[in-house]
Amino acid sequence: MGDMNISVPYQLRLTMVDGKNINALTDTKSPQTCYICKRTQKQRRASSVLPPDVIENYRFGLSTVHAWIRVFEFLLHVAYRLELQNKRLNKREQGEVKARKREIQEQFKARLSPRVDQPRQGFGNTNDENTARRFFEKSAESASILGLDEGVIKRFRVILKTLSSKFDIDVDNFGEYARETKEVVQDRYGWFGLTPTLHKILDHGGNVIRNRPVPIGVLTEEAQEARHKECRYFRLNNARKTSREENVFDLYSMLMILSDPLVNSFRDVVETKGRSVDEEVTDLLLSGSSRDIRCHPEESEQHSDSEYSDADSADSRQDAIDSSCE
Ligand SMILES: [Zn+2]
Repeated sequence: MGDMNISVPYQLRLTMVDGKNINALTDTKSPQTCYICKRTQKQRRASSVLPPDVIENYRFGLSTVHAWIRVFEFLLHVAYRLELQNKRLNKREQGEVKARKREIQEQFKARLSPRVDQPRQGFGNTNDENTARRFFEKSAESASILGLDEGVIKRFRVILKTLSSKFDIDVDNFGEYARETKEVVQDRYGWFGLTPTLHKILDHGGNVIRNRPVPIGVLTEEAQEARHKECRYFRLNNARKTSREENVFDLYSMLMILSDPLVNSFRDVVETKGRSVDEEVTDLLLSGSSRDIRCHPEESEQHSDSEYSDADSADSRQDAIDSSCE
């Protein structure tokens, strides 16, 4: 600027990377091993005393969007095996669990959500953040379908909403609530064991939050997840298919244009409805934080659905693009 030199220092923070990337970056060989305390599920079961944390790994945050889905799936899998109360199944028991799963899916279809825990054509399954949020919101209905304790579902709702809130969290209160929740879960469903995500949130959540420079809810991978559909759309409609390199180059150009601050300033900001939240969530926030927390995954999802309505059909054509770029 004129004769003045301005230097802007920056620090890259990998707060929105997914589990596979974190495991690779932290040299964690198995998805069952916690990248913070480096213990396997078996070691965690054998002793409740945890070794010192690898503190620098707090920097990866808690992946809150995936946490909604993983906790939801934990409760589903507990419910499938509830009568057997056993995680290792023989052939006959596997059949029983499959039958119970089908029964639960039918119940969900009739009462709460059309498709739960079913494969999605092309990639992944139907368990997304919106399905998970609906499940925790309708805790009484969900508990009745799964035959689980509603109190446990409500406790997880409080924890997940607190983590997603974008406000400063009272770390001591959160740590205490997480510790109590772990006790309740182990008392009811200890035979299943804690999955890596549950262990990370309940045992390390407080320390991870304490080490974040901004509220943990600001660091969700929501923005990155919302881009998936758009990336598929841009690769199909706004990028050359002459080579993989040119295809990716055009995609990045499109993303650079969209994230340009000037271009972005013309964007319509979608008004979102604020929802009042559980009293327990506000108890876990630092005083002075808002009591009206905006939770808007549905709105953002609807936005991308309507604007990129043919993005879904683009999924099936994704392979075609990939192969044409080889
Ligand atoms: Zn751990």
